[in-house]
Amino acid sequence: MKKAIYPGSFDPLTLGHMDIIERSAKIVDELVVGVLNNSAKNSLFSLEERVSMIKEMTEHLPNVTVASFDGLLVDYMKEIDATIIIRGLRAVTDFEYELQIAQTNHVENPDVETIFLTTSLQYSYLSSTIVKEFASYGGDISKFVPGQFIDRIYAKYNITK
Ligand code: ADP
Repeated sequence: MKKAIYPGSFDPLTLGHMDIIERSAKIVDELVVGVLNNSAKNSLFSLEERVSMIKEMTEHLPNVTVASFDGLLVDYMKEIDATIIIRGLRAVTDFEYELQIAQTNHVENPDVETIFLTTSLQYSYLSSTIVKEFASYGGDISKFVPGQFIDRIYAKYNITK
């Protein structure tokens, strides 16, 4: 059984994240989308909101579950018995950071391997930060996030469309 975790902030979940979830769910037996409870990061959506939004979008994927975690990823992976980390790679700018993290995690626990999926071309520029930036100015985010999230994101900025 290959059990993997796809960790991230998902604040909010974008179509780029969805693409990685759907593709990696085909590669592994079980995929846990792990939402990081990072209190230091000022998030737009609460942890509970982020978890429930991802659940809403992954209901149709039988081998995908959603959970939140805090602390070290490798420790949480031991707890849930997962050995694979899934990460998405967009541009070269992601590479150096991701390489460091992957190597550190491997040193922490040699059983842990990181699998990188390269972004699909149409999402290569997309990040949660860009979505928030656009939305805060009332920009069109319909090509970036699942349709049912659009109003919820604008609402965080008191924008009604
Ligand atoms: P983090 O705070 O850990 O970077 P994110 O929620 O921003 O969390 O991203 C989680 C993972 O999803 C990361 O591996 C990131 O590289 C990947 N990712 C984010 N956006 C995209 C995208 N548009 N295409 C492919 N992978 C992406």
